[in-house]
Amino acid sequence: MHVVFLGTGGGGGLPQWNCNCLYCEQARAGQLPTRMEAALAVSADDTAWVLLDTPPEIRAMFVRYPFLSPRGAVRGTPVQAVVLTHGDVNHCGGLLNFRGPISDPRAYVSVYATPWVRSLITQNPMFEAVKARWRDLVPGTWVPLLGPTDEDTGLLVRAVPVPGKPPTYRWEDHPEATVAVQVRERTTGATLLYAPIVRETTPDLEQVAEESDVLIFDGTFWSDDELTAIDPYGRSAYSIGHIPVETSLAWMTRRRASLRVYTHVNNTNPLNDPASDPARRVQAAGIRVAQDGWAIRIPEG
Ligand SMILES: [Zn+2]
Ligand SMILES: [Zn+2]
Repeated sequence: MHVVFLGTGGGGGLPQWNCNCLYCEQARAGQLPTRMEAALAVSADDTAWVLLDTPPEIRAMFVRYPFLSPRGAVRGTPVQAVVLTHGDVNHCGGLLNFRGPISDPRAYVSVYATPWVRSLITQNPMFEAVKARWRDLVPGTWVPLLGPTDEDTGLLVRAVPVPGKPPTYRWEDHPEATVAVQVRERTTGATLLYAPIVRETTPDLEQVAEESDVLIFDGTFWSDDELTAIDPYGRSAYSIGHIPVETSLAWMTRRRASLRVYTHVNNTNPLNDPASDPARRVQAAGIRVAQDGWAIRIPEG
């Protein structure tokens, strides 16, 4: 299974358009690598691709990553499916990129979401322009990842509900609001777990982490007070659905996955600076901080 980190930032990316924090400033000055909002591309055959989340920046990702370009026919895409972990704009806003004329009856991609997230998105009439074949993520159940006309990607997905947060634009929580997703390659059994929003680790999450070769986890904030320290309207990490890395690090250190990675790194997070003390602590624990464009194969080699 081939995995590409298309984007590794939290909401707003790095630099964030209206932020002048230390790391945004350094990223603008070219002193730190930039981050697009978090998304992964996954493939079993390097031909058909599945996106895990689709931030508004997906259009820039299509430009930056040529493996996502159309091939052969005048119109088309190697992206067969999109899997959504959450209804927030930075996780699903890119769906609008998959729009097409009302006269075209075809679906361009499959979109996998929990029924609750799907209903939330489709309540907005703007999303009627999206050429999606909606498919249900049934919490706890493996389902095949299929293209819009049932193309086989050779991959399976399972959603694992986790404590997270309500969508920022409608602050009511629901058991299907936030999911981690496990993706498995059918032929090799190679398995990854993608959990960009986790407020609290649970026995269920621990169980699926133990069944995964690669663990890609919520690295949004280093500390609980990271936003409140710089912004009078900022909120604590926990209150917006994210366990701080300084707390999750012990849990991550105990996991046996062959590769453990933090992603969805907010622009305020000292992990953006590889020379910072928090970054050294994560590295010393044998855990990586993802960067945009990073590609891995599972199993390795
Ligand atoms: Zn997010
Ligand atoms: Zn910033």
